[in-house]
Amino acid sequence: MEKKSNHCIACSVHQCANNSGEGYCALEKIQVGTHEQNPTVVQCTDCESFVLGNQNCKDCHF
Ligand code: SF4
Repeated sequence: MEKKSNHCIACSVHQCANNSGEGYCALEKIQVGTHEQNPTVVQCTDCESFVLGNQNCKDCHF
């Protein structure tokens, strides 16, 4: 199934199965969260809708 870009959600995480491949997320909505108790910088936030779609993603740690 072809993924349709949601132009309201720009995303450059091409390793994600939900990425349209055109610089956007293909989902209707995403969930953003944090893994910190007191988030202070952008690195504290996470896209919790991420799904690994590229097995060549060697930078991801599980
Ligand atoms: S689910 Fe999150 S990480 Fe994946 S393409 Fe959408 S916005 Fe990007």
